[in-house]
Amino acid sequence: MACHLIEEAKNGSLDPQRIKDALDELERLVESDKFDVSICRCKTCQQAYIYCFREFNSRQFQDYYWNFWVPVTDEDISGFKKIEIECGPVAEIIRTRPHIARDDKNKVLWYPSGNPVAHTLFTIPYVVDYPL
Ligand SMILES: [Zn+2]
Repeated sequence: MACHLIEEAKNGSLDPQRIKDALDELERLVESDKFDVSICRCKTCQQAYIYCFREFNSRQFQDYYWNFWVPVTDEDISGFKKIEIECGPVAEIIRTRPHIARDDKNKVLWYPSGNPVAHTLFTIPYVVDYPL
């Protein structure tokens, strides 16, 4: 896994537009207004990623967005396609796997050992109480 996107996420120089420009979407697996999942590939090095978009709405009617890019092998992808693509299993991947994420403050970070609170981010019914 030597994709330049990972290196840039690690050193903090990556922004969401650069990621979008660098990736081709190969297949959209889930599409909804709060939860999208697709398979992408880096145009430069062919590294595959599972991409996930997640939206929350606060009780103050503010929207919060998270995006996740989990680098995966082709073998991972065929395994992934056999599971039901729902919030729970996707949250488990994001909890346990190294990945790039854009958080709700628009910061792009590398999570070297997954995000321990991933399940919170995917808990239905999408509404969170953020401190004001
Ligand atoms: Zn790459």
